[in-house]
Amino acid sequence: MTLFSDLNLDPRVLQAVAEAGYATPTPIQAQAIPPALERRDVLGIAQTGTGKTASYVLPMVTLLAQGRARARMPRSLVLAPTRELAAQVAENFDTYARHLSLTKALLIGGVSFAEQDRLIDRGVDVLIATPGRLLDHFERGKLLLTGVQIMVVDEADRMLDMGFIPDIERIFQLTPFTRQTLFFSATMAPEIERITSTFLTNPARIEVARQATAAENIEQRLVGVKPERRDRTAAEKRAMLRALIRAEGAACTNAIIFCNRKTEVDVVAKSLKNHGFNAAPIHGDLDQSVRTRTLDGFRDGALHLLVASDVAARGLDIPAVSHVFNFDVPTHPEDYVHRIGRTGRAGRSGRAITIAAPADDKHVAAIEALIKMPIPRAAAPALPDEAEAGQGGAHGRRGRRDMPETPRRPARAASPRAAADAPGPSPAAAQQEPARPEAAATPLPRREHPAGRAPRPEPARPEPARPEPARRDRRERDREAGRGELPAPGWGDHMPDFLMRGFVTRQAGD
Ligand code: AMP
Repeated sequence: MTLFSDLNLDPRVLQAVAEAGYATPTPIQAQAIPPALERRDVLGIAQTGTGKTASYVLPMVTLLAQGRARARMPRSLVLAPTRELAAQVAENFDTYARHLSLTKALLIGGVSFAEQDRLIDRGVDVLIATPGRLLDHFERGKLLLTGVQIMVVDEADRMLDMGFIPDIERIFQLTPFTRQTLFFSATMAPEIERITSTFLTNPARIEVARQATAAENIEQRLVGVKPERRDRTAAEKRAMLRALIRAEGAACTNAIIFCNRKTEVDVVAKSLKNHGFNAAPIHGDLDQSVRTRTLDGFRDGALHLLVASDVAARGLDIPAVSHVFNFDVPTHPEDYVHRIGRTGRAGRSGRAITIAAPADDKHVAAIEALIKMPIPRAAAPALPDEAEAGQGGAHGRRGRRDMPETPRRPARAASPRAAADAPGPSPAAAQQEPARPEAAATPLPRREHPAGRAPRPEPARPEPARPEPARRDRRERDREAGRGELPAPGWGDHMPDFLMRGFVTRQAGD
């Protein structure tokens, strides 16, 4: 078995690793650190949760321990697709370089240029950035990339999904040809192969096993919903989600709920809150300060349910998540692997429950082909009368802290890069998580998203226990009871009360 002490790391780095509590390197660390220390290029095919961040941070800080930074000329560069991942990489540097006197700057949106310029002016050993923000600084003439000796591209597959590949190519061209490149991707799409064969020189290629195939401590389940009408799918999935969370009871200490679209993240989070659950959304359209506050609440246990999009959740290191719920079946099978990998971390057991509608069959098949096993089917829990089940059941009020309301922002069209990291209410968002072609091509259920209108949030109601069951619940119960419901085209999913009153469906012979 390899030990960290076998890896030729700087003794001060070894000390920091020991203080972080890590005894032995993970497979990607054991294989990537030696060639990286020899200044070879590395191509790591590994995903979040494998310890890949330390596999490049540890050799980088060891190599950078000698030498000094010059003003505006960073000695190394790490590119990450999202602000959250960039911030986590920065935390890793702080941890592992704590006994070295290295300087770093984090260039992400939502932080003022002036502050970042000041850091760059002083000279930094390590620059950690999202691609758009980095190029913004470069174009303002505040930054020179000709001193970069080591360049890392992390989560390249996500960069591809987000349309960053042209930016990455440009950044490669701005750095010296002699640089060392450490390149990480969970998958090797043809475009990623092309980039690596263009910009990496004879890399050490290291592939580590997919977590999902190895993680026996994650119990997977698939629960089907079979709506009578397609336009009821989302509402029935929300009712199923509530029933599943309640059925897990106290075993569900906290959970991440994944949706495929940002709009759905908002709707699901709001719906859960309306039903008394302690839930909040996280996606790229939210202000950085809101995202940070939400994540902090989730980490410290004040927030119980985090409703997330794939990109927002990417790379988040939240060690103890008991459950993952897939509100939507992901359209990219590898996203399933990433999502369920959020639970069952660090040897803990976890449960991943996926809600699937008949239209998801082909995506489920693709996932099962990837993970090389069927996802065990589970019976749906009974959908109780929600008024009797209590608002949010065991999960509602416990430890509740109202999370800030998250304003919905219109997604402004912008060039991928211009939007990349714009501070504040972000055009960034649209670009942080662009609709994937597949997702965009999927027709939205008509009554969930009436044509030409943004999906309407469910009506805000006061949070304290509501005396009456929600309107939607009454409709659901009516349907279950076989009472007729006349379709009202154009009203979306939110049938006004006046349309509900006094309608009687005449049966033949009435
Ligand atoms: P990453 O794949 O870089 O996102 O890392 C996933 C998690 O593994 C993080 O919580 C790291 O702190 C943790 N980790 C990194 N290296 C090790 C190690 N050698 N042993 C145990 N945990 C580690």
